[in-house]
Amino acid sequence: MRIFTSITQWQAFRATVKAGPLGFVPTMGALHRGHMSLVEACRKQNAFTVVSVFVNPKQFDDGRDFEAYPSDHGQDLGRLKQAGVNAVLLPDSAQIYADGYRFRVTESEFSQRLCGAHRPGHFDGVLTVVMRLLNLVRPDNAYFGEKDYQQLQLIRDMAAAFFMPVNIIACATVREADGLAMSSRNQRLDTGQREKAAVLYAALKQSESATQARDTLIRQGFEVDYVEDIADRRLAAARLGNTRLIDNVQI
Ligand code: AMP
Repeated sequence: MRIFTSITQWQAFRATVKAGPLGFVPTMGALHRGHMSLVEACRKQNAFTVVSVFVNPKQFDDGRDFEAYPSDHGQDLGRLKQAGVNAVLLPDSAQIYADGYRFRVTESEFSQRLCGAHRPGHFDGVLTVVMRLLNLVRPDNAYFGEKDYQQLQLIRDMAAAFFMPVNIIACATVREADGLAMSSRNQRLDTGQREKAAVLYAALKQSESATQARDTLIRQGFEVDYVEDIADRRLAAARLGNTRLIDNVQI
């Protein structure tokens, strides 16, 4: 497994990769089984698998959340090597944002709703980093989790809008035994919060309406950002203490 911290070195290497198709999984690290399911799908469908680990400062609307974001490169690299990944990109912010973030991708409708309404600038940060990473890696296929459903839709729409030559591939949400969607942020839950966290998925699935799901979450001590039904999905974000959880289910 080749590891690149230098974008220039990565680009020189990328020019030598001839075997196709090439698959890409962008992540922010602290890898869990959810991430690894994307890596497995990527490995199965491509001749060459690239994973990036980059905690993107521009998608954090809250500096404390960024500071507290978990990171363990040693463990991540061990898992990726074991999974048979061919190359890992570990760029730093100075290289990714050499322009000082003067150039960015903004979507003006769907990105303003749901998570976007509660996290100003979040999706500009997400779309901009994904655009930059896709341009660097030039994959045939790129893998994203349904857990971040709004993000997935926005990335799909961006790729189509800019005629980007990449297939955006959606992967199902991987859950803990009690239904909690796996997330790097789950590490920050204390024991009591962790037990309660499973209520989020149960409420989304079992309630007859978004309003009923919201009421259940509030009763259980969640601070609810939103619960909304859009087309055939029910999406929610809610906080337990300082930890913000998101999830969505098909209805
Ligand atoms: P992150 O490191 O949180 O930016 O996530 C990197 C990718 O992994 C994104 O496409 C996420 O949607 C995906 N992902 C995160 N958690 C899960 C999960 N529990 N199941 C499936 N995909 C996930």
